[in-house]
Amino acid sequence: MQTIHFPPTRAAGLDRLTRFTPRMGRTYAAGRNSDPGPGKRTAVSELSPYVRHRLLTEAELIRAAVATHGAAGAEKFIQEVFWRTYWKGWLEMRPAIHDRYRAGLSAAMTAMQHDRSLARRVERACEGRSGIDGFDDWARELVETGYLHNHARMWFASIWIFTLRLPWELGADFFYRHLLDADPASNTLSWRWVAGLQTRGKTYLARRDNIRDHSYGRFDPEGLSGVALALDEPPPPPPLALLPLPAPDRRAPTGLLLHGDDVAGIGLAVAADIQALAGLVIEDGRVAAAQAWTAAALDNGMTEAGRSQGLTGTTLSVGEVVAWARQNRLTQIVTPEAPVGPVRAALTALTPVLSQAGVRLVPVRRPYDALCWPLATKGFFAFKERIPDLLPQVIQDGSPGSS
Ligand SMILES: Cc1cc2nc3c(=O)[nH]c(=O)nc-3n(C[C@H](O)[C@H](O)[C@H](O)COP(=O)(O)OP(=O)(O)OC[C@H]3O[C@@H](n4cnc5c(N)ncnc54)[C@H](O)[C@@H]3O)c2cc1C
Repeated sequence: MQTIHFPPTRAAGLDRLTRFTPRMGRTYAAGRNSDPGPGKRTAVSELSPYVRHRLLTEAELIRAAVATHGAAGAEKFIQEVFWRTYWKGWLEMRPAIHDRYRAGLSAAMTAMQHDRSLARRVERACEGRSGIDGFDDWARELVETGYLHNHARMWFASIWIFTLRLPWELGADFFYRHLLDADPASNTLSWRWVAGLQTRGKTYLARRDNIRDHSYGRFDPEGLSGVALALDEPPPPPPLALLPLPAPDRRAPTGLLLHGDDVAGIGLAVAADIQALAGLVIEDGRVAAAQAWTAAALDNGMTEAGRSQGLTGTTLSVGEVVAWARQNRLTQIVTPEAPVGPVRAALTALTPVLSQAGVRLVPVRRPYDALCWPLATKGFFAFKERIPDLLPQVIQDGSPGSS
């Protein structure tokens, strides 16, 4: 994978943000649905790897958009950033849906072991050898660059499910393993949305003329399915309330543990005396280049965080955290809260081990997440209605919600 287009640093993210900000208004609204291809995209930001790992925060993107275009002028861009937040909140309150996806993926992988024809079809799709114009190009682009345009993601997922009739979980896993912005919420729920599981019964059908028009004639795929019958499953569980988090002890000897879901802790108010800094690297099943990108972003994030704390960070695997805590005589480790996904799973498994060693692991929820996530109880339309109420708090530096 060539990740050169996305240098894994906050400085590169800020530079991209600055360069894209003038286009967050009319240019974005008019052009965001069309994909001229790699190296030619001017109407979308390609900021997702930075926001996903919080080298930049959602609030920083929204503030830049509003400051330059006003809330109305940048409405579409702001809404898209809030889609990311909405998906996060939705899954956070329904973690069982991620478990369901993981169980479906495991079943589909077992099915591939027994069904050679299925395994071959999946392999051909992932290697860009399906014979479908566009689809094959997107498969190769994803593997080569770790990024796909939003419309290409929608077309790809739709063709995977409704034309190639492959298990959606294997497609979501293919995306997850290669995307630099791979996100348990946005990825899983967007695939579910295309399949008709998320907005139950409502699918997304990729059409030849739509692909031709919005790829500027680059692709003209024949033989796409003309129907998209929604997949089915039991309804999702009702939303759970977000877990209340314990407050950090201000006087305890404290370490700050960053991780791939929040690599720099930008603007995070920890309210404790930080004496040691570390970054947790986990094995999450993604391809080596994607994991290396996250590790490099974490390294950069730790350097940024260390500068403000006067500390030098160290990189740790899960198995090394207890020793690090002992070495630094810590009784408390604060960490930015990791949403549903592999980092959360690793931290959950680590909590009792640390506790046995006399160390309390305290996740800290960002005010932005605490403000927005609880609103994701219904569909995006209901969430969107709340954006005008949310914006003043997100924009105003220092207010709850602004980090
Ligand atoms: C099948 C499928 C899988 C996806 N998987 C992921 C994923 O793993 N990780 C991920 O971050 N996004 C995912 N998306 C959402 C979206 O495609 C990407 O966030 C977007 O394309 C990133 O490119 P950009 O930064 O140029 O976006 P821009 O259009 O410039 O948007 C700015 C920011 O808004 C957010 N955003 C924009 N569109 C969406 C959207 N539809 N849903 C959620 N957030 C959005 C992103 O944070 C993005 O960086 C997926 C979409 C689909 C259809």
